Amino acid sequence: MSSASDVRQAFLDYFAKNGHSVVESSPLVPRNDPTLMFTNAGMVQFKNVFTGQEKRPYTRATTSQKCVRAGGKHNDLDNVGYTARHHTFFEMLGNFSFGDYFKDDAIPLAWNLITKDYGLPKEKLWVTVYHDDDQAFDIWKKIGVPESRIVRIATSDNFWAMGDTGPCGPCSEIFYDHGDKIWGGPPGTPEADGDRYIEIWNLVFMQFEQVTKEQRVSLPKPSIDTGMGLERITAVMQGKHDNYDIDLMRALIEASADASSTDPDGAHKVSHRVVADHLRSSCFLIADGVLPSNEGRGYVLRRIMRRAMRHAQLMGCKEPLMHRLVPTLVSEMGRAYPELGRAEALIAETLKLEETRFKQTLDRGLRLLDEATASMSKGDMLPGETAFKLYDTFGFPLDLTQDALRPRGINVNLDGFQTAMAAQKAEARKAWAGSGEAATEKVWFEIREDKGATEFLGYDTQSAEGRI
Ligand code: ATP
Ligand code: MG
Ligand code: MG
Ligand code: MG
Repeated sequence: MSSASDVRQAFLDYFAKNGHSVVESSPLVPRNDPTLMFTNAGMVQFKNVFTGQEKRPYTRATTSQKCVRAGGKHNDLDNVGYTARHHTFFEMLGNFSFGDYFKDDAIPLAWNLITKDYGLPKEKLWVTVYHDDDQAFDIWKKIGVPESRIVRIATSDNFWAMGDTGPCGPCSEIFYDHGDKIWGGPPGTPEADGDRYIEIWNLVFMQFEQVTKEQRVSLPKPSIDTGMGLERITAVMQGKHDNYDIDLMRALIEASADASSTDPDGAHKVSHRVVADHLRSSCFLIADGVLPSNEGRGYVLRRIMRRAMRHAQLMGCKEPLMHRLVPTLVSEMGRAYPELGRAEALIAETLKLEETRFKQTLDRGLRLLDEATASMSKGDMLPGETAFKLYDTFGFPLDLTQDALRPRGINVNLDGFQTAMAAQKAEARKAWAGSGEAATEKVWFEIREDKGATEFLGYDTQSAEGRI
């Protein structure tokens, strides 16, 4: 059995052997893009290299990139616990060509890795191409994929763009068929969103530049950007369907089960999955300098942490749970990501503090929620004011309340929530008028958004302590 670490290493070694520089993962807080909440793909650190604004000493690179998709355009928070394939934190394996090789090489490079080095059975692989990308279609055909398993897709799923302007181009995605015991249809069918045919690798062919809204030109030197989810490919290689059954995730789930004295696969199965996932995103975010707060990135972190805490509560934990799982995560992933070990003490402290603080209001808030929904049934709506009270008085992020009600099929009245929020903000503004505090507060948040969340002095403190 290949461990997740082996799969990661084999990927990097393979592309190194094929002339790629092995580049370190960039931090989860993007350095070069203030508009992006978190690094959510391998190409993020190379954005300016693709546009030509930045030069690097190599034209081929490979990475295993830490990614978080829990806010902004890519948000998989609500998928966690429900699909077999989504995490909020995952590792994206990638190979990149900056005006070096193109489709003719990128497709065989990918195909040889998965069918030869990784040894996946060819008959279980499906590929998609953008509907008019005959070039990619022909390359796949030539390499031996039967036409019946090359699907032409016309939606934006198979056309990638950096933004309204900039590099763009068609994609080709590789899917693995996990077999007919699992619900779902092949790509391009209405059932494609099931978990039977799982997308493992996305190859982006950057061949155009969108100059203005109307004008698109061909790039003289097209580029390649690919991304494969480490957990998804590892699942395939370990003969598992579910990402949460791979060695790495399983170790976290077992730790969560041990620490809460519950069965990892019993009634609390979903909660263990959520805890394992959210533990990873929380710890990696803290290691990269994000701390829980009420704004911006810090608030996304707080939402993730609090969601996990509710699940710990569901398991019956009376004491903080998350911080006790940190050593397991560090032993699983600390070698590949040393920043985790360096920040271990800070991570554990932050989790414990947040959990201890939230515990008091979590229990009371959940009681209020129980009472408010006692007579409700599927399809009913929780009044927005109640959700707002939970948010304002008990520190429940809106999505925590939604997550709590989802299994019962109860929704939150979002308009009502927004109205209550707006009313409270108006009140607060009135109260501050004239004092000048509101303005100071705003500036302070802006500075913190800009700098505070990204600059973190913990490493220095830690290493200084380590030397004593
Ligand atoms: P999906 O359609 O399954 O949500 P995607 O098309 O959004 O995936 P991409 O943006 O193409 O994913 O990312 C490249 C690769 O990263 C995917 O092929 C997949 O292997 C992996 N990946 C994407 N999102 C996640 C996630 N939330 N958790 C784990 N792996 C992911
Ligand atoms: Mg997705
Ligand atoms: Mg997809
Ligand atoms: Mg994709």
